[in-house]
Amino acid sequence: MSKFAWRGLTLTSFLVIGSGTCLELCAFGGDAVAPANSPVTAATSIPNPPDGFEFIDTSFENASPLWYDFGQDSTVNVHLVYDNERSSVNRAAGHFHFMISARTGTQLTLEFQNLDNIWNRQPGSIARELKTAFISPDAVNWKPVSLSALPGNRIILKVTMPSPRLFVARVEPYRLSDLKKLLERIRTNALVEIKTIGRTVEGRPLEIVRIGDPNAAHRVFLRARAHPWEAGTSWVIQGFIQRMLDTDDSVRESRRLFCAYVLPMANKDGVARGRTRFNLLGKDLNRGWDKPADPLTAPENHALEQWLESMVHAGLAPEVALELHNDGAGLLQLSRLEGPRLQPYLEHMARLERFLRKDTWFTEGSTGANFRNPGSLGEGWLERFGVYAAVHEFNCNWIAGLNDYPSAAHWREYGAGLVRVFSDYFDEHLP
Ligand SMILES: [Zn+2]
Repeated sequence: MSKFAWRGLTLTSFLVIGSGTCLELCAFGGDAVAPANSPVTAATSIPNPPDGFEFIDTSFENASPLWYDFGQDSTVNVHLVYDNERSSVNRAAGHFHFMISARTGTQLTLEFQNLDNIWNRQPGSIARELKTAFISPDAVNWKPVSLSALPGNRIILKVTMPSPRLFVARVEPYRLSDLKKLLERIRTNALVEIKTIGRTVEGRPLEIVRIGDPNAAHRVFLRARAHPWEAGTSWVIQGFIQRMLDTDDSVRESRRLFCAYVLPMANKDGVARGRTRFNLLGKDLNRGWDKPADPLTAPENHALEQWLESMVHAGLAPEVALELHNDGAGLLQLSRLEGPRLQPYLEHMARLERFLRKDTWFTEGSTGANFRNPGSLGEGWLERFGVYAAVHEFNCNWIAGLNDYPSAAHWREYGAGLVRVFSDYFDEHLP
C-alpha cells in the first residue's frame, strides 16, 4: 500500500481503488490538486452520458432530491433519496420531479434507483406501485407515460426529448405556489375565511380554509398532502374549493346544508423540498393520531389537533373528515375499531361510499373486514373525537371509473363532485 504525505495529510492508496478522479482528495478541501506524480488512473471504466444528454435539473420548487450516473448501456440511473422516519427503520422514496436537459430528439432510458422502501419494519419496494409517470416540456401541460417494470423491482422510463427541456414527475405537480395562487384568488370572497392555525417545522404558515356559513347545519373537514408526494389530492382540494364557491342554486343549497373546513397542504415543508412521506423532523403526519401530537416534532399535527379541540369545545366538530392520499389502489380506508362506534360509523361510511359512486368517478370501493390503520387521521379522529373520519386514497396510476390516466382536470372534477356527495350525505341524514 503506497503512502504519501500531502498538505499535512497522510493518504493511502485508496486513490487508485477509487474512481480515478480527484473526488476523494476534494473531500479534504475544495482547492486540492493532485500532484503530478500521484497514482491516479485513467477514468476508463466510468460510462459516459448518452449522446445529447446534458443535465438533470432539480433547482426548482418541489423538485425531488436525487443524484444520477450512467450505465454501460447509456441508461441514466436516477437515484432517489429516501426520507427517514424518526426513531424507526422506516424510510420512503417515491416522489420524483425533475427536469432533463438534452438535445431535442434524444432518446433516453432512465432507471429509477432506491425504491427499496421500508414500512412497519418490513421491506416494501415502491416499484410495484410505479406504473405511470407524467412528462411536460413546460411544467404546465402534462401527459402520462407508462413506466416499464423489469425483474428485480427495476423501473424504467423511456422518453424522446420533444424540446431541449423535459419535466418528469410521478404525479402532475401541485406546488406551494399553486396553493398560494388559489388562496390569493379566494381570500376576499365573502364565503371564505382563511385562518392560520400554526406553523410547520420550517415556519411555513398552516391554513385552514373555511368555505361557507359557519352556522350551516353540518360541517365537513378535508386535509391533503400529509404525504408531500401525493399531489393529486391537492388538485382534488382545489376542485372542491372552487365548486363550493360557485353561485348556482345547487351549490347554494349545498352551502345551506354544510360548511367546509379544509387544511389544503399539511406537509408544506416536504412539498417545498420535494420529499416523499415524512415531515422535516421525520414524523409521519398521517400517524400518531391515536395520542396527542408532539408540538416539537410534529407541529403541523399539533396545530390541527388544537384547532379540532377548539371546534369540539365549541360544539362545532366536523361530522365527517376525509384525509386525502395517493397510492396505487384508491380505496376508501375504513378502520374497524372495536366498540360501540363501529356499527354507526360503518353505516355512515356506507352512505358516503354510495354517494361517492353516484356523484363522482369513484369505483374503487372500501377496505374489507378486519382493516385497521392505527394512528392514521381516519382512525385516530374516530377513536379520540368521535368524528366519522376516513383516509381516502386516490389511485395515481389509473382512474378506472373514467378508463383514463389521472390528470389535474380529472382530480378537480372529483373535488367538485365531492360537494354534491356531502350534500346528498347530509340531506339523507336530516330527519
Ligand atoms: Zn399517503
